[in-house]
Amino acid sequence: MTKSAKKISLLFIVLLTLFLLGGLFLLFQDREGPQITFSHTFESISPDLPVFVTVHDSASSVKSVDIRVRFQENEVPITLQTYSEGKQEQTVPFSLANAGLKNNDVFDLEITATDGSFGGFGFGNKNTVILPLRLDTSPPRISIKSSTPYVRKGGAACVVYSLSKEVRQTGVKVNELFFPAFRQDNGEYLCFFAFPYFMDNKDFNPQLAALDRAGNLNTIDLPVTRMNRQFKQDSIAISQAFLDEKAAEFESMVPGDMSDIERFLAVNGRLRRENAAALLEMGKNTAPRVLWQGSFLRLPRAASRAGFADRRSYLWEGQKIDEQTHLGFDLASLKQAPVPAANGGTVVFTGSLGIYGKLVVIDHGLGLQSLYSHLSEISVENGQQLNKGDILGKTGTSGMAGGDHLHFGILLSGLEVTPLEWLDDHWIKDNVIDRAKEAGIALPEFIPSPPAEAPAEKKKAPVRKARPGQKRP
Ligand SMILES: [Zn+2]
Repeated sequence: MTKSAKKISLLFIVLLTLFLLGGLFLLFQDREGPQITFSHTFESISPDLPVFVTVHDSASSVKSVDIRVRFQENEVPITLQTYSEGKQEQTVPFSLANAGLKNNDVFDLEITATDGSFGGFGFGNKNTVILPLRLDTSPPRISIKSSTPYVRKGGAACVVYSLSKEVRQTGVKVNELFFPAFRQDNGEYLCFFAFPYFMDNKDFNPQLAALDRAGNLNTIDLPVTRMNRQFKQDSIAISQAFLDEKAAEFESMVPGDMSDIERFLAVNGRLRRENAAALLEMGKNTAPRVLWQGSFLRLPRAASRAGFADRRSYLWEGQKIDEQTHLGFDLASLKQAPVPAANGGTVVFTGSLGIYGKLVVIDHGLGLQSLYSHLSEISVENGQQLNKGDILGKTGTSGMAGGDHLHFGILLSGLEVTPLEWLDDHWIKDNVIDRAKEAGIALPEFIPSPPAEAPAEKKKAPVRKARPGQKRP
């Protein structure tokens, strides 16, 4: 052998050793098959349910996912996915629609995932999960237990119903909005829902929906007696003095280089929509039981400045520059008047929120919440339990407010509804307490407030025939 041939063969041996060592390293580095996780946990499964299996390998890539059903002696392949892109995580959607199973068939769902390592003697590490399951094709039956709800545009209503089986989710669907129902002690479901202020009478078609644990969905029309109503038109002149006064506050809400008017329009439009979305999100944070009792308290000794769902035009030098819907009541009292909690509940938000300025939101349970906005001072904390009348802060001008006042709102699952109904003992008795009672649910009974408590408000306390349009002083 020549000297150079010796050199080459030595180099070859070194390379081979390195290669083998590298292989051994990989072999021992990844000895585990991929992790398999599911989008759902289940003991039974609907053939309609789209399921997602996520396969993750912490050390190498996912090479294949094999999903099959074992039923008696049969083996039915559902899907086989193979991958060459070397990703550490893959998600596989599947359903059992074509598995050839019948209702109540008991079977095994078998998922095998293989990684792209040198483990398993070069075939990759495997992991297999076997789930014993039952096929369930029967959606929950829905039986309405309370009489036909009466609901006005912008207002609320309640319904009680029973379900034939356990559910994952149930409630009233109004187009894209969902109002969850809550199971009561007697097993019935109670749901508050709204006729949204922005919806035409003909478009308001509430449905009861129930999704069982297996993934079967039942949806039925919910009959309601609906009442249309017209909301007030209103206009507000925007002055340079107002824009100057709010300049710093508005700039902190919508920063950037723009004119005062452009910034005002961004706050009043885009930010307003973002704030509404935040309230919808907040509406999900609700107790599964009623925390309130009797009618809601109105800010004492306060004049009404604006009503619910007033259609507001904004004028600049006589020209209309914007139009928005005012949601809630504007109540003006003394400057920095103490603000009482309208009813019992838990504080779920304190802080600044765009056009609402300094804001407190109280959760009263079952999706019902109240909102106190434009405050100058907040004296409660998140999570604090409040009784009706407890002071939560002081009125002010923070956010999109010209003069000192309280903007008071009532929300159902985060959607603003007219507060008028909830200020009215009779409305609550007829539309909530009695509806629940006829379906065997005892809500905390109405306790008449002593007449000494703000008698001036008693007279003004809106009843069903009062319209916000009549309330402007
Ligand atoms: Zn307001």
